[in-house]
Amino acid sequence: MIRIRNEPSSAKWDSWKAKGQRKAAEHIADHRAGREFKIDADLYKACRNEILENFHGKCGYCESLIAVQNHVPDVEHYRPKGRIRDHLNSEDLDKHPGYFWLAYEWRNLLPSCPACNRPGKAIATGKTVGKHDLFPVASGTRAWKPGHETREEPLLLNPYIDDPADHFTFDYDTGVIGAKTDRGEETIRLLDLNRDALLSERVAHVTQARYIVGQLFRELQDLSGLDDRRWNEVLQAKHPEKSYSAFRAAYIDRVIARFQRFRTPAKANSRARHNSEEANRAAQRAVGSRGRKKKASGRN
Ligand SMILES: [Zn+2]
Repeated sequence: MIRIRNEPSSAKWDSWKAKGQRKAAEHIADHRAGREFKIDADLYKACRNEILENFHGKCGYCESLIAVQNHVPDVEHYRPKGRIRDHLNSEDLDKHPGYFWLAYEWRNLLPSCPACNRPGKAIATGKTVGKHDLFPVASGTRAWKPGHETREEPLLLNPYIDDPADHFTFDYDTGVIGAKTDRGEETIRLLDLNRDALLSERVAHVTQARYIVGQLFRELQDLSGLDDRRWNEVLQAKHPEKSYSAFRAAYIDRVIARFQRFRTPAKANSRARHNSEEANRAAQRAVGSRGRKKKASGRN
């Protein structure tokens, strides 16, 4: 999981958002008046490709590439639009209407692979896993009305808001994600983020990153010797478009930090840090510019 800070930008996106806001307002009015209403699945799925592209073609939870596998992703509601279950609290949710008012809200929609989103059994533990309609929150904070969700304390990390690096640890030899926080622990458990298929993929990607970084550093005495081309190679290896980039980026950043600490004199260390920050900013600008070009070329 990585944090997603950008919003797609296109006339189609703006029009879709406006339609969603109108439809949500209709649902709220119907609900208040006690009238039946139906969530429009065609509407919330209408910008599925834009949402997937905003997540670099990956599952918003486990970072498996969806676009390359040519799968149609589930459009997952972070806060469930209908029935809600909370396996950690005894609160009676039978009468909860679901977060219907967020059914078309783009910050509540993310692409998901079936393994993360659909209910199933974990092979290792036999426990029920998959996000589905689960949405545990800290006791006593559940929102029952539109707008009250701002007071909630969800236990599932939200890629639009939370920085997973604050909640996860990474074991580069086994591919296992560990938890720094209770929310990290619940997110790992709920999505089964240490399922076997993910562990082997993460190890393979870190091995690839090890090779790239190892090759570069073998030739260098300190990071100040890295020219732009070489920095770009390092940055590409941890680019958000790569699968499992949270894992890869954490590994590469750790290697760079160790390299700076042990191999670089204080003066060069400062220069290297400056170069690193500059290169990171340049990469961010390049990503933003590429995203805008995609929109301009009408690929969405
Ligand atoms: Zn997934």
